[in-house]
Amino acid sequence: MSEMNSEKGEILEVSHVNNYYEDTGLGIFAKRQKRQVLSDVSFTIHTDEFFGLVGESGCGKSTLGNAILGQLPFEGTIRVGGMEYSKSDRRKFTEKVQAVFQDPMSALNPRMTIGSTMREPLRAHNIGTREEQIRAVNDMLEKVGLDASYADRYPRELSGGQRQRVCIGAALMLQPELIIADEAVSALDVSVGAQILNLFHEIDAGADFAMLFISHNLNVVYYLCDRIAVMYRGTIVEIGSAEDVYHHPVHPYTKLLLAAIPDFTSRIEDDGTGTLADIAKANAQFEVRNEDPEGACCFYHRCPYANSECLKRPSLTAVPTTDSEEHRAACRLAAEQPSAQVDEKGSVAEAFQSTC
Ligand code: SF4
Repeated sequence: MSEMNSEKGEILEVSHVNNYYEDTGLGIFAKRQKRQVLSDVSFTIHTDEFFGLVGESGCGKSTLGNAILGQLPFEGTIRVGGMEYSKSDRRKFTEKVQAVFQDPMSALNPRMTIGSTMREPLRAHNIGTREEQIRAVNDMLEKVGLDASYADRYPRELSGGQRQRVCIGAALMLQPELIIADEAVSALDVSVGAQILNLFHEIDAGADFAMLFISHNLNVVYYLCDRIAVMYRGTIVEIGSAEDVYHHPVHPYTKLLLAAIPDFTSRIEDDGTGTLADIAKANAQFEVRNEDPEGACCFYHRCPYANSECLKRPSLTAVPTTDSEEHRAACRLAAEQPSAQVDEKGSVAEAFQSTC
């Protein structure tokens, strides 16, 4: 399988992944209940590809990121560079996959200088002599837009943006095959976040790693990524190239995310089910059902277009109105509805205007 993956240039393979947690409830007589967080999640990320995973808070994005990092149990298969996580091979696995998180301050040791923090992965993996490690740290500081003088500073002496640059540099020190960036710009203010996005773009130009970029912000994901998967309640409801998902959204939830972007509703044509403004209005007026019937579409309880056909959960099917076979949506409307058309890609500043 790993040979097959490398032939296809697949860095990450996520196949039929499910994850559960046990809800202990409140009170001493409360019954323990098994709740599903991830539901049959499957996708691949190719070599050098930036892949965006977008959805609202609590939908399971970070759970998936942690499962890929080997930090959470799951059912199914996850392979990075053809290798599955195992505790005995943890060291080799961490060379392949690294992460950048939302809060750079808590990710850095306040008692260690920036130079020591960035040297640590090389030290832990016995890579190079001390001089070579210091040289590699200085080179990496330059690469992430800082200079060698930062090596002697402590995290408290740096701004939020500079700290996130250090975290990105530290994640790159082992030249991983995959980086998971989990809400990596969400805690930064708009201008600093835009600089970090631009840094990702610059690094992407000479990159030989793939990235899973997790965010609640569809604009940011579109700005940065080659392909996008939209997640709702632990299920991927739409997946395709960034152009297809952003410019030709099909699933009502994807449209709702787009409708939440200020000034975006006027930028979409009526696709037969109404403009984004209509969809947002319909959703606001829709009386949300408490629970989905067993086996129903995961968006049934919120969907203004739900009918009896939706009581059988739809699987991801190809969207016939776009050229790419990779564009798929888990909605009964996917096969019959012309996709919506959205106009031009926004700037990096616009990428931050989303409140979804
Ligand atoms: Fe809505 Fe039905 Fe499509 Fe689910 S399958 S998103 S409930 S129209």
